[in-house]
Amino acid sequence: MRMSQLFTKTRKSAPADEVSKNAQLLIRAGYIHKEMAGAYDYLPLGLRVIENVKQIVREEMNAIGGNEFIMTTLQRKELWEKTDRWDEKKVDVWFKTHLQNGNELGLGWSHEEPITDMMINHISSYKDLPAYAYQFQNKMRNELRAKSGIMRGREFIMKDLYSYSVSQEEHEKFYNACIEAYHKVFERLGIGDITFFTLADGGAFTKFSHEFQTICDAGEDVVYLDREKKIAVNEEVMQDDVLEEHGLKRENLEEVKTAEVGNIFSFGGTKSEQLGLFFTDEDGEKKPVILGSYGIGITRVIGVITEIMADENGLVWSEDVAPYPVHVVRIGDSDEVVEAADKLVADMIAAGNEPLYDDRNERVGTMLSDADLIGIPKRVVISEKSLKAGGAEVKMRTESDSNIVPLAELV
Ligand code: ATP
Ligand code: MG
Repeated sequence: MRMSQLFTKTRKSAPADEVSKNAQLLIRAGYIHKEMAGAYDYLPLGLRVIENVKQIVREEMNAIGGNEFIMTTLQRKELWEKTDRWDEKKVDVWFKTHLQNGNELGLGWSHEEPITDMMINHISSYKDLPAYAYQFQNKMRNELRAKSGIMRGREFIMKDLYSYSVSQEEHEKFYNACIEAYHKVFERLGIGDITFFTLADGGAFTKFSHEFQTICDAGEDVVYLDREKKIAVNEEVMQDDVLEEHGLKRENLEEVKTAEVGNIFSFGGTKSEQLGLFFTDEDGEKKPVILGSYGIGITRVIGVITEIMADENGLVWSEDVAPYPVHVVRIGDSDEVVEAADKLVADMIAAGNEPLYDDRNERVGTMLSDADLIGIPKRVVISEKSLKAGGAEVKMRTESDSNIVPLAELV
């Protein structure tokens, strides 16, 4: 990607109405555009970050048997009435609209109801189970407050997976496999050390649900963390009996501010009963299918990574998440420099490592401060000076020392 062809621009300051650090930086670096509070557009660099995060999640969900698909945002009122979740007193984040004929519709804030109804077409026997389906989908939630930038959107991308099992035992096996898969995801995203498995309220269906909470000052949650045991307890279930049940001691718990990056949830057979999803078991008996639901906030995770990694000069990405692995900065426009930089970039593309290529003829200071702001992990500067010294000047985003590397070795 040549920066001369990239339509986005960096900017010195963030819009005055944007209060969150993650959105301020992402706007300044040209990754996102703010449409309104809680609604952001993802520009070319931001979209590449989303795709990289999705790919990591996708690989781990496929590894535990997930099938990727995608559902519509438009949802039928009658399905949510069957489970008593259409009422705004029950679900306070609904966006609702209506067709021209007057029929009411909901915009999906979650998909348990429509996917369970859809599964009636695909599940009728124990032979059809288990089934694991997931999607990356835009969720619509009319959140009361939207001041955390992309960490709390009114439209945001979630990975939501739904598991359908014959028994509680089979359900728990998958539930535990998903916990392991989530740990791998957060490890690969570079936040494994600060993301903790957390006990939370299970709602009407089970005693507990489980969250994945990342230590982050900009987070909106508070959890009580046992660092040694690597387990945390959400504020809402912080009670003596809960601690005792899990072998936790109050004096070993540390109060930390966190952001919820993932959540897993058991529904038992209740929702299937309400919506009519039954299967026939080996003895010919009709039973409700056991449902689990497993979310990861894709755009929230990007906000959290931004908040945690950024420094005073701008964004900082790990190689797996960065929009491009390398930022090539060409300083000067003599034939020799242009030829060397163009060839290096072409060779990198041929080797499957497309870089971001700053081929603008901007001031050196502007190009280097833009590179810092954009935050790509490796910077390669080619100039007359570097060529005379034997190659290009290579520097890591988080280090201050650079060294000269011969161009052939760089590829
Ligand atoms: P919160 O308590 O933060 O509102 P939630 O309990 O409503 O989250 P879930 O319904 O479990 O969240 O959604 C699954 C995941 O989606 C969450 O773990 C979080 O990472 C993400 N998420 C939820 N709401 C938002 C939002 N408004 N903007 C961005 N991501 C969100
Ligand atoms: Mg919520």
